[in-house]
Amino acid sequence: MKHCLERIGRFDGALNAFVSVTEDRALAQAAEADRRIAAGDATTLTGVPIAHKDIFCTAGVRTSCGSRMLDNFIAPYDATVVERLDAAGAIMLGKTNMDEFAMGSSNETSFYGAVLNPWDHDTVPGGSSGGSAAAVAARLVPGATGTDTGGSIRQPAALSGITGLKPTYGRVSRYGMIAFASSLDQAGTLTRTAEDAALLLEAMAGFDSRDSTSLDEPVPAYSQAIEEPLEALTIGVPENFFDEGLDAGNAAAVTAALGELQKHGATLKRIRLDNVHLSVPAYYVVAPAEASSNLSRFDGVRYGYRSPEAMNDDLNAFYKRNRGEGFGAEVRRRILIGAWVLSTGYYDAYYLKAQKVRQLISSDFARAFDEVDIVAGPTTPTPAFGLGQKTGDPVQMYLNDIYTIGANLAGLPAMSVPCGFSGGLPVGLQLIGPHLSEARLLQTAHHFQRATDWHARVPPGYD
Ligand code: GLN
Repeated sequence: MKHCLERIGRFDGALNAFVSVTEDRALAQAAEADRRIAAGDATTLTGVPIAHKDIFCTAGVRTSCGSRMLDNFIAPYDATVVERLDAAGAIMLGKTNMDEFAMGSSNETSFYGAVLNPWDHDTVPGGSSGGSAAAVAARLVPGATGTDTGGSIRQPAALSGITGLKPTYGRVSRYGMIAFASSLDQAGTLTRTAEDAALLLEAMAGFDSRDSTSLDEPVPAYSQAIEEPLEALTIGVPENFFDEGLDAGNAAAVTAALGELQKHGATLKRIRLDNVHLSVPAYYVVAPAEASSNLSRFDGVRYGYRSPEAMNDDLNAFYKRNRGEGFGAEVRRRILIGAWVLSTGYYDAYYLKAQKVRQLISSDFARAFDEVDIVAGPTTPTPAFGLGQKTGDPVQMYLNDIYTIGANLAGLPAMSVPCGFSGGLPVGLQLIGPHLSEARLLQTAHHFQRATDWHARVPPGYD
């Protein structure tokens, strides 16, 4: 743990992966972990340092969600994810930087500034869990939590050369996780390996009566399941994931990775997910609609940002000033879009239509899983892009999630696994499975990682 704190001190001034470093708390937790280990009461995670995305409420520690709105917010309680990892004995080293309210694909919408990609400081680490991804990639911490509403675990994992797991919707409790789009949000892990992801998920997952969408299903022993021999899988490869938008280097790395899986006995089968090209437009109706409702609670009355000028305003002006100053441009854009697509006259044309498209996309996956065990392809169309390169064009930014959003719309578990490089930057292989197939995804990723060393590569200067 001291080693990690020392690395955070050495590297994080430049990387900006952490919003808060909680050294005193970590030292106290480490002393407690030592006591547990001495008493023979330790779990595999006891004493293991981790970081939490700053979207998870942590009692007594600022929970900013990357926003000026919550820059002064100290949560009075722990999120279930935090509580469970705490109970297992993991040590929280701090809270990681993120796109504001998890809206973004580059970590550039954060109130605390951009995070740099350890592989190339002129590029982004991905987002919205960019701080968690950069912290793990730079070996500041062995594992971190993240959330994935449209790709925010898998996309930064791919761009930063690490392993990212988004579980089935409802597998991990959303209690205490600040809501962006409640029907899509899901907590997961960013780690170096599938093995580490299995250990963290085992501790995080499971029913929670405080989250009404939490699944009441037993949690498998993922860390044991991954060691079992890989059965002969049929892997569906969606041909429309290999379209003209896919970078040639990414295509080559992903194709080689699929070849490696074939060597392990997998049969590849070409499939089509016909409606996947509609996933980005459908998502950018559904997610903003839910966000506009979820974010209405931030008004500066009971907590959060209150403008120093606001006390002279009437009530409406008070809300407007607090929200106008407290939220950044991307969050305001999403709230406006969301309110608009839900408004009388537009609801049927946009929101209802998007829900129908969502259903079509779910059906595409359901049909695919009648024939194949998992679906595999690229996580992102390109490797990490330049800082500032897409900030002026939201649609270009949104298109980075073209391959990831489908799994969120359908509630499916999905992973990104390092599988090579393009132009010196990491490339991710995406694995998507049927509901509650986390064990199989982790097992496939684990066997792939036994045969390859992409996940073990360290960014130059960070070894
Ligand atoms: N990049 C997508 C967005 O901006 C997804 C974000 C996420 O998964 N939280 O909404």
